[in-house]
Amino acid sequence: APTKAIKEGQAEICMKTEKVFYNPVQEFNRDLSIAVLTKFIEGYKAELTAKLEKKVRNKTLSGESSTDKPPEAEITILEALSASGLRSIRYAKEVPNVTKIIANDLSAQAVESIKTNVAHNQVEHLVETSHDDACMLMYKHKHPSKRFSAIDLDPYGCPSIFLDSAVQSIQDGGLLLVTATDMAVLAGNSPETCYAKYGAVSLKTKCCHEMALRILLQCIESHANRYSRYIVPLLSISVDFYIRVFVRVYSGAIHCKKTTSKLSMVYHCVGCDHTTLTPLGGFKPNPSDKNPAQVKAFLPTAPPVGELCEHCAQRHHLGGPIWSAPIHDIDFVTSVLHHVQDNTERFGTWKRIDGVLSMVREELPVPLYYTVDKLFGRVHLETMPTLMFRSAILNAGYQVSYSHAAKNSLKTDAPAALLWDIVRTW
Ligand code: SAM
Repeated sequence: APTKAIKEGQAEICMKTEKVFYNPVQEFNRDLSIAVLTKFIEGYKAELTAKLEKKVRNKTLSGESSTDKPPEAEITILEALSASGLRSIRYAKEVPNVTKIIANDLSAQAVESIKTNVAHNQVEHLVETSHDDACMLMYKHKHPSKRFSAIDLDPYGCPSIFLDSAVQSIQDGGLLLVTATDMAVLAGNSPETCYAKYGAVSLKTKCCHEMALRILLQCIESHANRYSRYIVPLLSISVDFYIRVFVRVYSGAIHCKKTTSKLSMVYHCVGCDHTTLTPLGGFKPNPSDKNPAQVKAFLPTAPPVGELCEHCAQRHHLGGPIWSAPIHDIDFVTSVLHHVQDNTERFGTWKRIDGVLSMVREELPVPLYYTVDKLFGRVHLETMPTLMFRSAILNAGYQVSYSHAAKNSLKTDAPAALLWDIVRTW
């Protein structure tokens, strides 16, 4: 069979067979993952080194050891569903400070292709090939001494079958990178299937792309909670035909008790498309939380009284539970954005990363969004120019932002009644 060579970033891969998966459209996904991993590992390695130094200091003080030099912190990455090996090879060549990468696939042809490509790119010293079921491989790495610093899950469609093993085989504070491409299920075309796969009912609404992100985050958190672990999202994006989340996984049974206050059910009005969030658990602001101002800002509004929507007296559909806590860590996103802006020559898709992350950085931490055209469409009015609509909200003393997940989106902390008042004046 003819061999096709593909160059992406610093890697060159040979595709001997059409049967091994390669999608050029995912270059953005891989570029972004490299930038995220670079900045994550920089911080994580410093955290690990500080911990190791402390350990050595304590041992020296107690006379247990005479050396004062801690061992080098090791950073290991698992690409559990690797296909051609392209992503792992790029991680090996483009992400600094990595000790070892395992590129795994269940398909024998894919594994053969990974081996060829690893040799072709001369990264055998960093990339180990594995031929196993992703779940089985991760279960073999459950023991704390064997866990990975980062695990990348990039399956066809839904990632949920890999989550139980993934959340157990990641180090405390490690990074989980997860793609989901079954957008029809997540965006409300099949709410029952969404419940079966993700444990949440999806809704067909104007804000379905952010809902999809929040359903996936909820699903990862629920898997983590089973093992007294919990997640902290660093970045959550919806682009093209898929979503991708980057979350840190921590251990801590006490923190798991806060999960219900990070989840909400969603009442979706069939008449005016309005969504109202109802938290699953009580909300107790904690001054020691990382960002109390943000925490306060996403506090959902009160649940709807009775069955009917207060704005148009129509019925509600009930969806969720969704993750209603912040979906990005803005300081982290800023560091990734600056890294890409300072290294544009390294990222083929830097312009797009720049665009998406700049929008993410400006997003209000309010869950979900409106779209201005749908708002006016519902009452059969011509759409008010977006800028005019936004200024009306700002003039009333509330905040507005876009969401990176939809064109013409509008995030705001203003009550829905105010938006309908503005619509009425048009
Ligand atoms: N990450 C790759 C990239 O960036 O080019 C693409 C991965 S592709 C979407 C999904 C891969 O998962 C396929 O190569 C398939 O053989 C593999 N796969 C499917 N089920 C698997 C399983 N249970 N364990 C390991 N690999 C699996």
